[in-house]
Amino acid sequence: MIIVVKKDINEEFIENIKSTLSANGMSFDVLNGERYILIPVAGDLTTSDIGRFKAMPGVDRVVKISTPYVMASKSYRLKTVVDLGDGIKIGEGFTMISGPCSVDSEASLDKIAAFLSGRGIRILRGGTFKMRTSPYSFQGLGEEGVKILHDTAKRYNMRSVSEITDVRHIDLFEKYIDIFQVGARNMTNFALLKELGRCKKPVLLKRSVSASIEDFMLSAEYLMNEGNENVILCERGIQTFDDSTRSTVNIASIPIIKSLTHLPLLLDPSHSVGNFHYIPQVANAAVVLGADGVMVETHYNPAYALSDGFQSLNFNSFERMHENIKKLYEFMRESFTY
Ligand code: PEP
Ligand code: MN
Repeated sequence: MIIVVKKDINEEFIENIKSTLSANGMSFDVLNGERYILIPVAGDLTTSDIGRFKAMPGVDRVVKISTPYVMASKSYRLKTVVDLGDGIKIGEGFTMISGPCSVDSEASLDKIAAFLSGRGIRILRGGTFKMRTSPYSFQGLGEEGVKILHDTAKRYNMRSVSEITDVRHIDLFEKYIDIFQVGARNMTNFALLKELGRCKKPVLLKRSVSASIEDFMLSAEYLMNEGNENVILCERGIQTFDDSTRSTVNIASIPIIKSLTHLPLLLDPSHSVGNFHYIPQVANAAVVLGADGVMVETHYNPAYALSDGFQSLNFNSFERMHENIKKLYEFMRESFTY
């Protein structure tokens, strides 16, 4: 259950609730939400327990919760906007993140960033420590790639995002990268989530191909529970029997997740669809469904990309997709109630 306490009350009331809970051996947390102070209490409670807390001064209501996450839920906050400075925000308007799958060279990334920033894209992606299925595939440029991404993003006044795969890279990323990305394969790497939860920089958390929405929310809760409330969710498709796309884009999850959480939600059509032919249409769907943005892989010449060339858009198709997204967003923006 959650004891929902009014914000403007005397500290004494909170202390009273806490000491009653402790005296009854109940384990709890106190979360200072924007709208209320929330006290989630673990375990099954009887109706009389609930009645007792309802009657205490300062308590607005006591709710039985059907979700095991609290901070990621809408009862904690209605909306989170991640502010990256210089007017760059995620959770307000429609955000486009783009760049190559992997940072391949300074010259190549420069061409891509010049094109994207020329189109008004403010967040540059690029893998540096890659999670490849085969140990023989390109593993990323590592630290050199991180520095190239940083320098390029700076040159074009963009923000950078790159996937972090190892807690030992946190210092390096803290120094050079604006948003930590947790990849689908690491969504349940709880040791990594806990460490990132103690960092200041935002985390873009991707859904694992085999995670339920509840699992996904609980991973976000890990980050928030450690103190990092700048979490951006990214849906990227799930594993099904259908092999016509790389993963299956479960588009209904966008309105569902938006109704459960205040956190911004992006769709990654690149890794879910895996084929450049269909990515623009699926990106359009993200707008219509009320996602807060998309993350799309782009390369100046996808044939030269060191990873995921087949799912990378070239500049022409990116431009066409972007024009459509802008029109669709204008058309749709008034209709979202999340
Ligand atoms: C990526 O965005 O670079 C990536 C590897 O995606 P995912 O973790 O969703 O597979
Ligand atoms: Mn990729």
